[in-house]
Amino acid sequence: MLTTRACRLALRRNLVSHHRGLATTTNTLVPPPTSSSDSSANNNNNSNQSASTTTSSNTTAPTDKKKKKHIVFGNRGPSLQDFLNSTTGTPSSSSSHSKSLDPTTTTPLEVPYLSMKGRQLGQGSKYFVEVYGCQMNVNDTEILMAIMNGAGYSKADDLEEADIVFLVTCAIRENAETRIWNRLADLKRRRLGPLKDRAPLVGVLGDKLLDSDKMVDLVCGPDAYRSIPHLLSISETTRQGVANVMLSADETYADIVPLRISPESFSAHLSIMRGCNNMCSFCVVPFTRGNERSRDVESILKEVRQLSEQGVKDLTLLGQNVNSFRDTSKDGVELSGGVGAELSNPGFNTIYKRKDGGMRFTELLDKVSLIDPEMRIRFTSPHPKDFPTALLHLMASRPNICSQIHMPAQSGSTAVLSKMRRGYSREAYFELVDNIRSIVPGVALSSDFITGFCGETEEDHKDTMDLMRRVEYEMAYMFMYSRREGTHAGRRLQDDVPEDVKLRRLQDIIGIFHKGAENRFRARVGLPAGECVLVEGRSRRDKSRWVGRADGGFKIVFDDDLVLPSIESSLTNNSGGAGSGVGGEKGKVQIKLGDYVQVVTTSATSTSFQGKAVARTSLTEFSRFQSLLNQGSVGRLSTTTGVNIPPVASQLGLGGHASLNISP
Ligand code: SF4
Repeated sequence: MLTTRACRLALRRNLVSHHRGLATTTNTLVPPPTSSSDSSANNNNNSNQSASTTTSSNTTAPTDKKKKKHIVFGNRGPSLQDFLNSTTGTPSSSSSHSKSLDPTTTTPLEVPYLSMKGRQLGQGSKYFVEVYGCQMNVNDTEILMAIMNGAGYSKADDLEEADIVFLVTCAIRENAETRIWNRLADLKRRRLGPLKDRAPLVGVLGDKLLDSDKMVDLVCGPDAYRSIPHLLSISETTRQGVANVMLSADETYADIVPLRISPESFSAHLSIMRGCNNMCSFCVVPFTRGNERSRDVESILKEVRQLSEQGVKDLTLLGQNVNSFRDTSKDGVELSGGVGAELSNPGFNTIYKRKDGGMRFTELLDKVSLIDPEMRIRFTSPHPKDFPTALLHLMASRPNICSQIHMPAQSGSTAVLSKMRRGYSREAYFELVDNIRSIVPGVALSSDFITGFCGETEEDHKDTMDLMRRVEYEMAYMFMYSRREGTHAGRRLQDDVPEDVKLRRLQDIIGIFHKGAENRFRARVGLPAGECVLVEGRSRRDKSRWVGRADGGFKIVFDDDLVLPSIESSLTNNSGGAGSGVGGEKGKVQIKLGDYVQVVTTSATSTSFQGKAVARTSLTEFSRFQSLLNQGSVGRLSTTTGVNIPPVASQLGLGGHASLNISP
């Protein structure tokens, strides 16, 4: 008797046999920018689609001389296919694309992938997803899940019951790629083992094509997820690997409501734009993710409302250059007042020609933050060039926009920054940091750094260390430079810093980062108002303690299951600290997941805080309490007695969430 899974496989194979032919696409395509000229090519639509059959093998994966044919749908020009070729040792894009199939032979009989017309290709087949890399990949996975479920597939809880396994990845860092290779080797063993008939199809989705030893059945670029159900059917029908690596000028998946991986979580991410126009010389993103394109504002606001209704309390807006958001749809143009269109300061510039018009990030953030005053809003990953003063004032004035800013510096040397094509000097960066800290007091800053970039001297390295000492970040992501195929640095600059020197410099900056972070965290210990913490769960190390995230994004581990029901109640009842209704058990409430809790911090390392919970609160109440403290109307928190303040509850008569003036 067939097992349920075997039935599904038989059914799926029977089904896909009716879908012979090669899929094509109706997407509008644009090749990624290849020079230092304007890469904002949104008007530079190009319909030069190509479908090629290539034969590829891999040079870094375990070698198997048998080669697997692939059907590849890709753009002309440098593309994901180039990265496949560079990895696998096959000829460059120009030659592979010259082997394009005759379009008449690639025309599908009836399966253009964008017009599925409700066809249920999946028929209950199950897929399993493994995500490698950053939050963008997690968000892409949620889009993938929506597409797959919409096509009649369902998500498997584990690999054993899956008909298809997807590895969602990116090629920005070398180690993400290495992890994928290792995983493919595992899957290969499964495919060659005694249960090979039950081995799932393997799909690699994301920024880089991978093909290894007949392992990968499907490869899909980040703009082609809609085609995945049909690509799967093609792979089954033809018994060939199939890839759609086309980049799009306009794909934002705005009409797809992502299926959240953790629907019970109080945190969520929302993609507002995709791609990048910046062409930093070390980075593959403009090639693998294409040019910048933003979702229309109404689709974003609708999704934010839905997430609010689902109880989300901590929302992160996502984009490769999230603060370069520019909605040029009809709504974006009509709703825009033109606020926030300028660069951070005159020391910043762009490699591409900036365009006027449309709604910018500042206005979007204003609208998003007004939807639910009890939902925190963060955003990542921004570029330092796009922090106009209006954006900073908005952040400072709106209690639910977190005072947390990622400011990827990459280097502290102006000479290296120039080679990296970052568009700013160290002086411009310092000026921006000063501006941010003066307008958004208490802001937590984080950054990215690369050590050992092409031509980096000891003097350059000293400049980076100096910048890190002066700024003192709360969080940093630090890497050694690794050459990425197809980038400007990969083609034109020499990767001439020895690995041991890169490593030593990396260790230098890691040490400096930790010292700076510890300084900043210690300065926050025992803040008069405490920290407003969203309760996320129990501490992994000590289940009797809670862990949550503060406004600045850092983790706080804290004690006490029972807290006062509100800050206001502590002010009303308090007549002097512990044992007077404040420190005692009477009237206290149990902390729950998803609560905001006022926590007084007691100690810190360079990565987290320890503290003690005082009262359940809300963003609005906590913000008002901070204001009163600043005015001197109330006293400060005490680490030993809890809240020790005069009764000023009437002053905490918390009104609605006012719409704030975001001009300086
Ligand atoms: S701005 Fe960021 S994503 Fe864009 S090219 Fe530079 S490093 Fe890459």
